[in-house]
Amino acid sequence: MEQCLFCKIVDGKIPAEIVYRDDSVVAFKDINPQAPVHVLVIPVKHVAKLTDPAASDGKMLSQIFATIARLAGELGLEKGFRVVANCGDEAGQTVHHIHFHVLGKRRLNWPPG
Ligand code: 5GP
Ligand code: ZN
Repeated sequence: MEQCLFCKIVDGKIPAEIVYRDDSVVAFKDINPQAPVHVLVIPVKHVAKLTDPAASDGKMLSQIFATIARLAGELGLEKGFRVVANCGDEAGQTVHHIHFHVLGKRRLNWPPG
């Protein structure tokens, strides 16, 4: 079966600027950054969207959020940052492998667009 784009990044078949990886989680710079810091944090395991039952894996989610917290320190986001997970068409999900956008190093407006 054809792999999804982010599974190809996990497997190194498509290059990406990886900022963190372990056996469960990979984080890499977004190709079209919306802020001076814009990284995507994903599980190694393919899960298409947040509403899939496999997305409610507590261990996987804690590994993702531990990675986000560590990256916030490493990437100099002590003034604040935002985590975004788009789910479904209306939210603008374009890649069907769950991912958490981490955005920072600029003033982030609310409500979002
Ligand atoms: P979504 O719109 O699904 O929430 O976010 C998908 C994100 O993946 C977008 O911000 C887009 O810029 C990013 N993206 C799409 N293709 C690639 C790619 O090949 N490499 C990287 N590093 N990011 C990508
Ligand atoms: Zn995938």
